Amino acid sequence: MKLWMLVGGWVETSLVDVLEHVSFTLWLSHCNFKCPWCSNWAMARGLKKNIVSLDTILKKVVNAAPFIDYFHVTGGEPTLQYKTLYELFKKIRRSTGVLLSLDTNGSLPYALRKLLPLLDHVAMDVKAPLGDIMKYSRVVGLSPSLTRKIIPLIRESLKIIETVPFLEIRTTIVPGLVEEKEVVEVARFLHKELKLKPRGERAVFVVQQFIPYEGVPKEYSLKPRTPPSIVREIALKVAEVLEEFEVYYRTLEDGSRKIK
Ligand code: SF4
Repeated sequence: MKLWMLVGGWVETSLVDVLEHVSFTLWLSHCNFKCPWCSNWAMARGLKKNIVSLDTILKKVVNAAPFIDYFHVTGGEPTLQYKTLYELFKKIRRSTGVLLSLDTNGSLPYALRKLLPLLDHVAMDVKAPLGDIMKYSRVVGLSPSLTRKIIPLIRESLKIIETVPFLEIRTTIVPGLVEEKEVVEVARFLHKELKLKPRGERAVFVVQQFIPYEGVPKEYSLKPRTPPSIVREIALKVAEVLEEFEVYYRTLEDGSRKIK
């Protein structure tokens, strides 16, 4: 039976999606969050999508395999299509030697549990302090009551991904909502409350710059991108809290830089 996915696009060699590695990056359409600062808004809303067969994607990845380390899937929220994604990951594992990578908002732990045995790298966004439902709700554009149900799922996902060989947690600065205080709170929460214990080869926390990419909804399109010096300062504070993680910051100007 031929399988299909709703695809936003792909690039055959990306240097920015998996830290310090080259990846074939596939974007899947649709997202269950409505972050008002989303850089992939059209794709997240399903306005940018093509129906593409798994075989077509597989062929592209096989051709790119000699030049890449990872096959990386992002979105949108890729776990919304987890059953087909599972089949795709299996095909790619069977046909190439490339490592498998997923970027997720962590809201579907049952999907993550299914995919995890195949994955070599998981990048998961913790978008705001998990103890602050009102803030999380504003950052992800969902009602407080829905966010209240989603936070325990995100916590569950964080525990699920503890064992992945390469774990990456990302928090993006959002002007007026997620700044130094909130990013440090995320780090404290992971360390103290969740007692996150990465058990793979590598665990990384990345503080990401706010960038008003083309397509960012109007409310955020005129806000300036965060100065790299501020992003770095925040990462330095995170490094004081998160002993068990390497800490990086990521900006357009400097790329990905290691703090510790
Ligand atoms: S979770 Fe990611 S893709 Fe989805 S709306 Fe938020 S920023 Fe966009």
